[in-house]
Amino acid sequence: MTDCLFCKIATKELDSEIVHESDNIVVFRDTSPAAPLHVLAIPKEHIASVDELNREHSEVVGEMFIALSTIAEREGVAGGYRIVTNVGRDAGQSVFHLHFHLLGGRYLAWPPG
Ligand code: AMP
Repeated sequence: MTDCLFCKIATKELDSEIVHESDNIVVFRDTSPAAPLHVLAIPKEHIASVDELNREHSEVVGEMFIALSTIAEREGVAGGYRIVTNVGRDAGQSVFHLHFHLLGGRYLAWPPG
């Protein structure tokens, strides 16, 4: 998708602080961190949100979760962190390319607002 911010991050057309990359996914630091550790995992393929997922995406979604748990461990928040995805504007989704937020390094209240 030519006008998608996260597609541009995936292709390196736009700079980001990448912490992990494979053939299928990129994980990079959020530019407006909501916690001491705040990274986003995205598929390189353009998928708008969880609503667009189908069985063919199972592997890439699994890979994103495994990468995030590895990063949580590496960055020292393995004891408590949150992985979250917003679906749709009413839930706060602002970039319509699937992404999982990894938040950690502070107390995380529940439920989120
Ligand atoms: P959401 O609101 O769930 O769609 O999350 C989008 C996230 O992308 C927000 O936390 C933003 O701070 C983050 N974000 C927006 N632009 C960039 C960028 N160029 N690089 C890294 N993170 C970004």
